Amino acid sequence: MKPILPGAAIGVLGSGQLGRMFAIAARRMGYRVHTLSPDSDTPTGQVSDLEIAASYEDLDAVRRFARGVSAVTFEFENVPAATAAAAAEFAPVRPAGSVLHTTQQRIREKTFLESHGLPVAPFRIVRDAAALETAVAELGCPCILKTADFGYDGKGQVRIEAAVDAATAWEKIGRRDAVLEGFISFAKEVSVVAARSVTGEYADFGVVENMHRNHILDLTVAPAAVSVRVQERAREISRAVLEALDVVGVLCVELFVTHGDELIINELAPRPHNSGHFTFDACVTSQFEQQLRAVCGLPLGSTAQLCASAMANLLGDEWAGGEPDWAAVAAFPSVKIHMYGKMEARRGRKMGHLTALAGTPEEAARMVMEARRVLRR
Ligand code: AMP
Repeated sequence: MKPILPGAAIGVLGSGQLGRMFAIAARRMGYRVHTLSPDSDTPTGQVSDLEIAASYEDLDAVRRFARGVSAVTFEFENVPAATAAAAAEFAPVRPAGSVLHTTQQRIREKTFLESHGLPVAPFRIVRDAAALETAVAELGCPCILKTADFGYDGKGQVRIEAAVDAATAWEKIGRRDAVLEGFISFAKEVSVVAARSVTGEYADFGVVENMHRNHILDLTVAPAAVSVRVQERAREISRAVLEALDVVGVLCVELFVTHGDELIINELAPRPHNSGHFTFDACVTSQFEQQLRAVCGLPLGSTAQLCASAMANLLGDEWAGGEPDWAAVAAFPSVKIHMYGKMEARRGRKMGHLTALAGTPEEAARMVMEARRVLRR
């Protein structure tokens, strides 16, 4: 199959910051970018050649959109299956709708991983209150009830401390199909952002460490401070996931590292990931350029990391005291400011991020946290 070359138009379903950074990478290489989502003046639309405001359920609009581009990708995984199928009538959708299907629902994702011998937390499928009671008894407490349809950033999750809390937890998640997971007492949370090309070539950006606050990613440090054995194992797992799913594109594997240095997959995201934003500034090829290369059928770029790096998210909360002190952040010569063009700074909303480049990961982490601290009024 012939590669899609600069000058061609690429379609992005979804219009958030991941699409925006993809569009920036694509336009830098001379591609045109079209985006479709229900909104207008979006983070992706602002830097695209064409922004279409249409519902994902408007399949005629989706078909028209796909007809105007050489390939379609997406920047969030909740694209409905029918939307991906409608787009695929006119242009290759990468990663394929089948990857979306597996990864957009927790029961399917967990079952898929387990059936491929990949390590996941012990889990039970829960479809009613009685099943939950049995599952809690089997897995023991604490355990975590998660809705099957992805909530993101910790939404749709309830931690169960004691068997008597099961009924309340079931009500809390709205009596929806769910997965009950055994609680993993982890030492670290890490992730691997990886890509696979049309020809099956694999490349990843190594293992990075993630710290969350209120279930939202707060800080990524790259590379992670883990043993070589953990690094190798995490990358081996990541490669196995991309191959088992037959991914063409970028996928992120989030993992727990236990106190005994075992690795357990928490979840998958079939797209560039917040924990890979550091690649934009710190790697030869960014995760977004890598997505573009994979989607266009080009060879993958080098994932070599040029220096240690740390990324801190900027949530709407930072605006509580007024407009952040950008000049103070700009005074850090090795900190890069990324803003997503969102007009309204709501609590918990991802508005942008900072990336620090330094000699060591510890230094990068210190620098990025200090830069974020001075930003607050
Ligand atoms: P998730 O939305 O599934 O990524 O979960 C959000 C966060 O909840 C994770 O980053 C963990 O910090 C925590 N968490 C999720 N599942 C588990 C688990 N089985 N054991 C311990 N902590 C968990």
